[in-house]
Amino acid sequence: MSSFNLNALVRPNVKAMRRYASARDEYSDSSAGMVFLDANENPFESGVNRYPDPQQRKLKEILAQQRGVNSSQMLLGNGSDEVLDLIYRAFCIPEKDNVIVLPPTYGMYTVLGETNAIEVCEVQLNDDFQPNVPRILELANASTKLLFLCSPNNPTGNLMRTDLVTALLNEFHGIVIIDEAYIDFTESESWARQLNQFPNLIVTQTLSKAYGLAGIRLGIGMASTDIIEVLNKIKPPYNVNQLTQNKAADRIAKVKDYETERKIILQERQKLEYALGQSKFITQVFPSEANFILVRVDNAEKRYAEFIDKGIVVRNRSKQALCANTLRFTVGTPAENSKLITTIQEMN
Ligand SMILES: *Cc1c(COP(=O)(O)O)cnc(C)c1O
Repeated sequence: MSSFNLNALVRPNVKAMRRYASARDEYSDSSAGMVFLDANENPFESGVNRYPDPQQRKLKEILAQQRGVNSSQMLLGNGSDEVLDLIYRAFCIPEKDNVIVLPPTYGMYTVLGETNAIEVCEVQLNDDFQPNVPRILELANASTKLLFLCSPNNPTGNLMRTDLVTALLNEFHGIVIIDEAYIDFTESESWARQLNQFPNLIVTQTLSKAYGLAGIRLGIGMASTDIIEVLNKIKPPYNVNQLTQNKAADRIAKVKDYETERKIILQERQKLEYALGQSKFITQVFPSEANFILVRVDNAEKRYAEFIDKGIVVRNRSKQALCANTLRFTVGTPAENSKLITTIQEMN
């Protein structure tokens, strides 16, 4: 994208400000032999008496290496939801700018837009759940700062086609966010590999899904160093707490556990896909590249209530565009999935 001008997209107030210089920016606990009398902390060691590293350097190094990007191309947040919120606040002027989302998709893009008083424009996905590129480009105007793509998409489970995403990256004049919360469940390569080709690209990922760490809240944003610098300016200094940084590093070190669980989830997804296809009241099983499966049923409200009666909570997605009478099943443990399958057989 030759004409991309980041400076023109950043909000003027953000451009003008300096980032808060915190006590821990210059010297951190790893600076051996230093006495820290700079941050008004309690000096008695408890493991968490010090403020955490505002730049999460150790954790970023591990995550950046895993993902084949530079640490300077990475921002960590209190969940990827915080990363998405920071993107809004860095680029969108309230009551003036707008963004484009592609329903059916993740609901937080719209909630964050509403929270920040940014108009959220919708361009429904095509019937095959792929982006309608001409319509998106037609709708975008000078005030359209962000375009949210989710791949694999929640709740439909499919990847966005590479040629269509490339076209959007090349032709959309704002920032393109590709939300890869479910990237671990597909064989497809992350768009983070393409950061150097696309200066307008932000890729978000999370440790909440495949890594099994939804409770610690750790999200990842990856983009050009220039974009990351802008986001760093406005992020709360200590947005990722020490316990989260520790736990994330521990879990990533146990790569075998992650791999084992991931493999089981993928096998179970296949097993579920087959079993759901056998049911009489499930009329369509959408292929999934994520850890959930969307199905169309005869009567979603009725079936949802039946599942609740049987002690199984699923997600009714019927109110979303293109999703009339759909339910979304997360892939559970083998025992949980067996219970789901047995229950469905009884419901027939
Ligand atoms: C679950 C989910 C997230 C949330 O990630 P957190 O890191 O837990 O905030 C983001 N995007 C999509 C599409 C999701 O489904």
